[in-house]
Amino acid sequence: MKMMVVVRRLPSTTITLTSAFSCRFTSPKFFPGQIIISSKSTPCYPRISLLATFCSASQVPDPIIEQDSSKRGPLKRGLYLVGTPIGNLEDITLRALRVLKSADVILSEDTRHSGKLLHHYNIRTPLLSYHKFNESQREQQVLRRLKEGEIVVLISDAGTPGISDPGAELAKLCVDENIPVIPIPGPCAVVAALSASGLDTDEFTFVGFLSKHGPSRRERLTASANEARTQIFYVPPHKFSQFLEESSLLFGDSRRCVMAREMTKIHEEFWRGTLGEAKVRFLNQQLKGEMTLLIEGRTNCLVETPSEDQLEHELGELISRGHTLSTAVKLVAEGASVKRKTLYSLALKKFGKQPEADDNSN
Ligand code: SAM
Repeated sequence: MKMMVVVRRLPSTTITLTSAFSCRFTSPKFFPGQIIISSKSTPCYPRISLLATFCSASQVPDPIIEQDSSKRGPLKRGLYLVGTPIGNLEDITLRALRVLKSADVILSEDTRHSGKLLHHYNIRTPLLSYHKFNESQREQQVLRRLKEGEIVVLISDAGTPGISDPGAELAKLCVDENIPVIPIPGPCAVVAALSASGLDTDEFTFVGFLSKHGPSRRERLTASANEARTQIFYVPPHKFSQFLEESSLLFGDSRRCVMAREMTKIHEEFWRGTLGEAKVRFLNQQLKGEMTLLIEGRTNCLVETPSEDQLEHELGELISRGHTLSTAVKLVAEGASVKRKTLYSLALKKFGKQPEADDNSN
């Protein structure tokens, strides 16, 4: 038996649902103001009472926060690293809201962006910008405030501070100065993508963003291609085609991958297939949104040697991007562990002798 209650855009509705069945929230499209509760019979949970308070924008479940806060007493001084949503504003914990509300100051990457989140939850704590360009300049000021006993919160634009975002440096400084550093766990794109990927989660390597510098990028990808753990990358959408080309060359077309795009947002997409299939599907398409890419770990002992066609294609791509023939040969040789001499003759056969003009790309 299945029961469904749909609540739409109620300013502030409290629903108490007592049922003989277990309850769970089910909907890939789970937005503020539209909540679907379905219930399913299970023998394990004979009777469950669910009290849910749903709020529209800018209405915080204040009583819950206040109650929680009074139970737990005042916060201890220190640096709080608070996880914030990676899309859906509902993905924030009650503890995160309480800490944000009680802090003396919130350090934020982009005060306008964070202002929207804080406004949504009716939080009026002062904001101070803290990003990669003023990080070192702000550090001493923040340390002084922390030493004076203030409660300082650091948030990033999305997800967990310090994970491909500012935060790690400040945490290190606080640790060195014996100032408490307190994590308030919350969303993190790498963890969300991995948990839903269907790939092995026992061991994984979080690579994050790859270098803009071609040879360093290839070196990192080569190391990743040889690892048996699931490899996880943050990829800006405009670099997605380049990522597919380079990774398929080094990991091999048959390696399974998952693209997690716009997680927790309206257009959330999980695409699963091989790197070869991903190239057919997405190469040279201008995809939009935030992307996390996962590639399965190496299962056999040897990384696939790229075929002659793949090598030619890679050389052609690099030449068309403005690299000279010799640079293209060098880059492909580094990444694919193929002898330079072999590649050079292949390149000459395919593209002929090229004028050695200035190399105008990285
Ligand atoms: N600190 C954040 C965290 O905890 O995940 C990561 C910040 S990093 C600057 C931003 C990158 O995270 C994006 O370029 C994308 O690769 C990934 N990301 C963030 N939000 C995402 C989402 N909703 N769906 C997929 N990937 C996301």
